[in-house]
Amino acid sequence: MAEQNELYAQGRTKPGPKVTNAKGGTSYHNFGVAVDFALLLPDGRSVSWDTKLDGNADRKAGWIQVVDIAKDLGFEWGGDWKTFTDLPHFQMVFGLSTAQYRAGKRHTQHNLMKL
Ligand SMILES: [Zn+2]
Repeated sequence: MAEQNELYAQGRTKPGPKVTNAKGGTSYHNFGVAVDFALLLPDGRSVSWDTKLDGNADRKAGWIQVVDIAKDLGFEWGGDWKTFTDLPHFQMVFGLSTAQYRAGKRHTQHNLMKL
């Protein structure tokens, strides 16, 4: 939460560009049910956010291949959002709001069965 609040302050009350619209406790990242990704480049150390990159020359953008796999696994993709598109973002929230997570509610096997 503190780290998220620090990120939120950047570009508002602290110098630097804005990097998030979410205060601490309002991001699913704060509850371990969201991840952001990038493509690992062949050097094994650097990453790319190029959504058009076709690193294995199979005529398919690697980014979209990752998205397709994640969506098959049941993740919601930020690239499908209408109001704020977040291309590196995946989440699996189990039907719970961030307010419910803040209140201590967590998914259970019962919640999983409803998916
Ligand atoms: Zn994210």
